Amino acid sequence: MKKLEQIYEGKAKKVFETDVYDFVIVDYKDDATAFNGEKKGTINEKGIINNKVTNHLMKMLEKKGIPTHFVEEISDRETIVKKVDIIPLEVIVRNIIAGSLAKRVGRPEGEKLSRTILEFCYKDDDLGDPMVNQYHIFAMKWATENELELISDYSLKINKYLTEYLKDLNIELIDFKLEFGKTSDGVIVLADEISPDTCRFWDSVTGEKLDKDRFRRDLGGEEDAYKEIMKRLLGE
Ligand code: UDP
Repeated sequence: MKKLEQIYEGKAKKVFETDVYDFVIVDYKDDATAFNGEKKGTINEKGIINNKVTNHLMKMLEKKGIPTHFVEEISDRETIVKKVDIIPLEVIVRNIIAGSLAKRVGRPEGEKLSRTILEFCYKDDDLGDPMVNQYHIFAMKWATENELELISDYSLKINKYLTEYLKDLNIELIDFKLEFGKTSDGVIVLADEISPDTCRFWDSVTGEKLDKDRFRRDLGGEEDAYKEIMKRLLGE
């Protein structure tokens, strides 16, 4: 498969056209941003780690029956994925209070929720990805009722499978963000990434943060934290 022209560059990834219909190549960068692009930096080898961790988790989820965009990893930083139209929603799944939820409800980080919370944000950097509800989503036609039901069902299942899987590796899944896309034949699949950039991972023994909060909050040790996640998941 040939890598053709770049069709998109985001904060953490580039996407390239290929000579195969409906397949594109994602290329992961080491660039790190936080607070909607206000804070910028790099995390050495983050692109390699996020590529491998995402693919590892997507393969696990596929086996459990969750359709994803994953096709094939072709290098340390590059993966062939199905071309999709991204549904302009970020789905946030929360098990433990942290981040913006802690601020919104005035509760300490680390408090276990009595049940899982699903939040939807409208994916628009200029607007700062505002949180929206089902009425907004249907009125703005970002997704139909059936599509949102499917996305919500997948998100809760993904939460269950990831939580179970990570528990054995002494990783607690605090919260995470998912994106879904629609293939040319209209199938909704999990897209984007599942990595320390998009999940909060806490060591279940020490409580140590093993995710992008180390960068966001200037805690230091972000490279080691990302490496530790890769080591626990892939053994390398
Ligand atoms: N998240 C993300 N991209 C975003 C916003 C959030 O990947 O644009 C992830 C984030 O890493 C965390 C979860 O979604 O695992 C919940 O994030 P939160 O709403 O608490 O916002 P934050 O405190 O990360 O700004």
